[in-house]
Amino acid sequence: MNREKKQGFDLNSIKTTTLAYFMLFAVVLMIIIWILQGFITDKYYETLRVQEANRTTVAVKQQFRDAPPDDFDKYARQTAQTNGIYIRIDGGMDSMIYDGIANLSKDTRFESELTKAMTQLGKQNLESANYRISDKNTGNNYLISISKIVSPEGVVNLYIVTPLVPIQSTLSIIRVLMLYVFIIAIGFALLLSIYLTSKIVRPIESITGSALELARGNFNVKFDGGKMTETNELAEVLNTASYEMGKADFYQRELVANVSHDLKTPLTMIKSYAEMIQDISGDNPEKRNEHLGVIIAETDRLNKLVSNLMSVSLLQSNTITLDRKTFDFVEMCQEVYESVAVLNEQEGYNIVFTPCKPTLVYGDRERLSQVLHNFVSNAIKYGGEDKYVGIELKRSGKKVSVHVKDNGMGIPKDDLPHIWDRYYRSSANHNREIDGSGIGLSISKTILSLHNTNFGVNSDEFIGSDFWFEMPVAKKA
Ligand code: ADP
Repeated sequence: MNREKKQGFDLNSIKTTTLAYFMLFAVVLMIIIWILQGFITDKYYETLRVQEANRTTVAVKQQFRDAPPDDFDKYARQTAQTNGIYIRIDGGMDSMIYDGIANLSKDTRFESELTKAMTQLGKQNLESANYRISDKNTGNNYLISISKIVSPEGVVNLYIVTPLVPIQSTLSIIRVLMLYVFIIAIGFALLLSIYLTSKIVRPIESITGSALELARGNFNVKFDGGKMTETNELAEVLNTASYEMGKADFYQRELVANVSHDLKTPLTMIKSYAEMIQDISGDNPEKRNEHLGVIIAETDRLNKLVSNLMSVSLLQSNTITLDRKTFDFVEMCQEVYESVAVLNEQEGYNIVFTPCKPTLVYGDRERLSQVLHNFVSNAIKYGGEDKYVGIELKRSGKKVSVHVKDNGMGIPKDDLPHIWDRYYRSSANHNREIDGSGIGLSISKTILSLHNTNFGVNSDEFIGSDFWFEMPVAKKA
C-alpha cells in the first residue's frame, strides 16, 4: 500500500478546493454587486431624484404663494443651491430663474426643452408632470418637472430641472472603489481559506499519521482530532477502535498460546497411551481397554476444543443461527447435570441439581445446553476446595431461570465487565494450572443475546460465583 503523502499542488485537496470555492464566492459576489450597481442603482437613483423633485415642486409652490417676494427669492436660491437644481418660474412679463448662484431673469438654457415639455403638458391636459430629457451635445440627462401655480397674480409655470448627470460620475467613483473592494475581498478570501483549511486539515493530517502508525501494528497510538467537533469525534472513534484492536490482538495471542497448550496435553496423552498399547498392553485385553479408554477420553477433549474453536469462528463471522423449538427446560438442565454427575463418585465433587416443575421454553435446545455446560464446567474448573457446584432452577411467573453456583475464587470486580469478552481470562485464575481459552463465555453471551434474554453473574472474590440466565415460559407446543 502506497500511503506516501502527496507533495505539491493537489487539485482534490481540501486546501485547494476550499481556496477555489472562496475565490469563486468572492468573484460571484462582486459580479452580482457590479450588475446591481450598473442597472439597479441607475434606476433607483432616478426614482429618488423624481421623488425629490416632486417634493421640491410642492415646497416651492407653497413658498411662492405664501412668502413675501424677497423671502421667496432667498428660499428659491437656497433650494437651488443645496439641491443642485435649476428653478424657473415663467409668468407675466419676466422669468425668474434660480440656479444656485443668483436669480437671473434672462437665461436661454433649456429654453426649447421647456417649451416642448410645456406643449406636451398642455396636450396631456395635466396640472403637473415629469419629463426626462437628454442634452445631445453633452450627453447629460435631466429631469424636468413642470407644474402650474395658481396665485393671486394669475397662473404661472414652474419648471424644476434636476440634472441626472452626477450619477455617472458617482458611478465611476463607485466602480473604482469596487475594484479596491474586490481586491481586498479576494485577499481576505485567500487568508480566510488558508486559516480555515489549516484548522481542518491539520487534525486530519495528524489523524492520517496516527492511522499509518496503527496500520504498522502500533495499537498504543493516540489520535488527536484538534478543536473541531467532527475531527474530534473521528479521533475518539479511532481511539476506541485502536484500543479494541489492541485488545483483540492481545487476546488472540493469548488464545493461540492457550490453545497450543490445551492441544499439547491430550496429544501427549494419546501418544503415550498408544505407545503403551503397542509395547505393553496390546495382549492384555483389560489393560488395553483401559488405555484405549484414556485415548478415547482425550480424543473427546480434543473434539470439544475443536468445536469450541469452530463456534468462535462462527461468532467472528456472525453466522451463528438458532434452531428454535419448544422443549422442556428442566429436562435439558437435568441432562447437563447427568453428564457431569459422574464426577461426584469419581472425583469427590458435590454437584447438586435442584429442579423446578417441568417448564416449556421456546429456543435452541442444543445451544442453550452448550451455555449451561459452559457455566457448569467453569464452576467445576474454578470452583472451591469443597468441590460444590449447584445447578438451581427457579420458576417465577412467566420466567424460568437457571443458576450455577460455586464457592470458588470468584471474580475480581474489575474483571467482571470483561469476562464475557472474547479470549478474556480473569487475572484471579491466571496463575492456576487450569485449561481454558477464554472463549466459552463469549460464545454463551452471543447465544443468549440471540435469544434476547437476560443473563449475568453475581460474584464475590474469594467467596464464589453465581452464573445465571433466564428464559420466558412458553405455552404448550
Ligand atoms: P475459559 O474458562 O476457557 O478460560 P470462559 O470464557 O468460559 O473461558 O471464561 C472466561 C474467564 O472467566 C475464565 O478464564 C475465568 O477467569 C472466569 N470465570 C468463568 N467462570 C468462572 C467461575 N465460575 N469462577 C471464577 N472465574 C470464572
